[in-house]
Amino acid sequence: MREAHGSYYVLSLHVLGTSSAKPTRGRSVSGSYLTTPGGAVLIDCGEGMQERIAVHDRWLRQIGSEERTRLGRVRAVLLTHGHLDHCWGLLPMLHTMDKDGRTAPLAIHGPTSRAALNWVKEGHNEAPSLASGIHPGDLAIQFDWWRRHGGKEGTLRFDVEWHLHPLDDIDLDGIEILNLDGTQIHAFPTNHGVPSIAYRIRTPSTPGRFNIEDARESGLDEESIRDIAKDSDSDEHRGPRRPRRTLILSGDTTADVPSFNGSIGPVDVLVHEATFDDAHEKKASEYGHSTARQAAQVGMEMGARLVALNHFSSRFQDLSHLGDEASEVHPNCHLLEDGDRLQIQRDGMIRVDRRTTDAWVSILELE
Ligand SMILES: [Zn+2]
Repeated sequence: MREAHGSYYVLSLHVLGTSSAKPTRGRSVSGSYLTTPGGAVLIDCGEGMQERIAVHDRWLRQIGSEERTRLGRVRAVLLTHGHLDHCWGLLPMLHTMDKDGRTAPLAIHGPTSRAALNWVKEGHNEAPSLASGIHPGDLAIQFDWWRRHGGKEGTLRFDVEWHLHPLDDIDLDGIEILNLDGTQIHAFPTNHGVPSIAYRIRTPSTPGRFNIEDARESGLDEESIRDIAKDSDSDEHRGPRRPRRTLILSGDTTADVPSFNGSIGPVDVLVHEATFDDAHEKKASEYGHSTARQAAQVGMEMGARLVALNHFSSRFQDLSHLGDEASEVHPNCHLLEDGDRLQIQRDGMIRVDRRTTDAWVSILELE
């Protein structure tokens, strides 16, 4: 995928919600639109997500961007957990897709537990009590409810493939839940009180840099050179293949996640929640969240090149001290804002661009 300035990105994340729990001061609740070489996916889908995607897409069209965030192109929705600020926008979005005339199937993925799956199978007509050990916000309970209230095959003109992944079946190495034409998506259990997972998105490797001098010296005519240069399957007259690129999105979690270590890597970008600051460290672990400093520490342990922070508590008017605390631990930390675009290019360059009235403004470049 080629941008107007000539660089090639393999992953492009449009961040459309960076607030925790409730919308506040220009920040909406969780949801991001990710373009991969195998198509677009949404990661989390808080309230109003369909509208946020449409507004962002209109803005992209207005500035003449080649890249768009069209709802109709979304192949899968990846929910990190069942708290409403991460999933309440899903059912209305399905109906919008239907009214837009969608016919392509949509896959929806999320974590659950064996106990919650059994509860649903038993056909209870009520939410489980807390004494049952099943969290009423478990996505198995919500998927069941949504299917019975308008998200069902037959009500919508397109097929919805509901995929629940019991944490009981996922070990520290994670499981591959989806493969989008070579882009692998793995789920890893996290720690948030309700079944929750992080997603790792890993692109296929890409061809090495084309060496036009080398091709000319071999005596090829210009037309053949153009053909070989365009053929991404050919390694002729090219440098070494460029490695796969990896993005991890944590969802909501404490920093205490056994699979978040060096063996999950190599990682280009970790998008990690940073609900709290140092002064609220105790609260962070009590409520299943992380501080900015802890998120940066997780990034160090997994060897992430950039740690991008999101999911900030609405109690903070100014977030700069969260950035300062994280930067004491990891040299490359970034506080995300709604509308930010985070790209990983095939040569490894990481860029963050900020949405302004009429253009992207580059705010970070990391080679
Ligand atoms: Zn949560």
